[in-house]
Amino acid sequence: MQPTGTGALHIGNLEGALRNWVRLQYDYEMFCCVVDWHALTTMFDRTEEIGPAARQTAADYIAGGLDPQRCAIFLQSHVPQHAELHLLLSMVTPVGWLERVPTYKEKRESLKLNDEQVSYGLLGYPVLQTADILLYRAHAVPVGKDQAAHLEISREIARRFNRLYGEVFPEPAAVIDAATAVIPGLDGRKMSKSYDNAIFLSDSADVVAAKVNSAFTTETKLRKTDPGIPETCVVCQLRKVYDPEGYQTSWEEDRRGERGCMQSKRELTEILNEALEPIRRRRTELLADPAQLEAILKLGAQKASDAASETMKAVRTAMKMY
Ligand code: ADP
Repeated sequence: MQPTGTGALHIGNLEGALRNWVRLQYDYEMFCCVVDWHALTTMFDRTEEIGPAARQTAADYIAGGLDPQRCAIFLQSHVPQHAELHLLLSMVTPVGWLERVPTYKEKRESLKLNDEQVSYGLLGYPVLQTADILLYRAHAVPVGKDQAAHLEISREIARRFNRLYGEVFPEPAAVIDAATAVIPGLDGRKMSKSYDNAIFLSDSADVVAAKVNSAFTTETKLRKTDPGIPETCVVCQLRKVYDPEGYQTSWEEDRRGERGCMQSKRELTEILNEALEPIRRRRTELLADPAQLEAILKLGAQKASDAASETMKAVRTAMKMY
């Protein structure tokens, strides 16, 4: 994940991605990178924020359940082979492929960027992302439902490299966890750092309460006795994720106009805070002990670098660049 903003993850990242990584770490050899160079595409003019933000993201990986002894947890910039492979892959990637990537087009349009404002790095983002994956000769990449398409270009670049120089890279397959839901943000849109609608793992219990209080419910439910529509109510949707056993009763009451939104919000706050409290405590401990966190990141970078060196040896041999 990219350490943009403060670097703290939100509950969409937690439920839509991290929980799945935590499950996968028992069955796969995993490389969990905080991609701080990618954050430069938007934070190039405030680079001093990226280092601290990357530590927040790493702390959230661990607080959310990734075990630094089991998988490699590291920063992209601590393993410079990401840059070397990016350069080599950039030579075999047609610009046309990059210009057609939907996220590139979306970003250009939503940020209203003209030709002068689009950096070479923003266009090349998928090439760096491909290097991040191929550097570990990964067979599988866990992605959210919304992200499966992002992997297509990585597969194409891997195919092209293999055709030109011989089989070095497996084609990485997307591992999509069917159980993960898209978590709605407080305003009903998808929860995202960039929409200002997120509940962060760094939010205190009081901040969570205030945010849940501000969440959209059912527009036509003005009084307690008006029927709600749980399927489109943010509070009901979050309740379903965090109270999978018990949410149905509250949904039925909501539908029948037997409960007010304030009650639903109070209950959700309690359920959420109970689930998030251990994560909050762990992330605070980790961030309070920078030496320990740096040691974890160093260990991760060492594991990653060992694998990366092997791959780069194979790449240089295949390309006959000694
Ligand atoms: P953001 O939109 O907040 O910047 P990213 O696009 O960096 O989040 O996503 C990081 C990871 O978290 C991805 O695997 C993505 O699929 C997942 N993710 C992000 N937002 C959500 C959400 N609202 N619901 C479920 N998963 C999400």
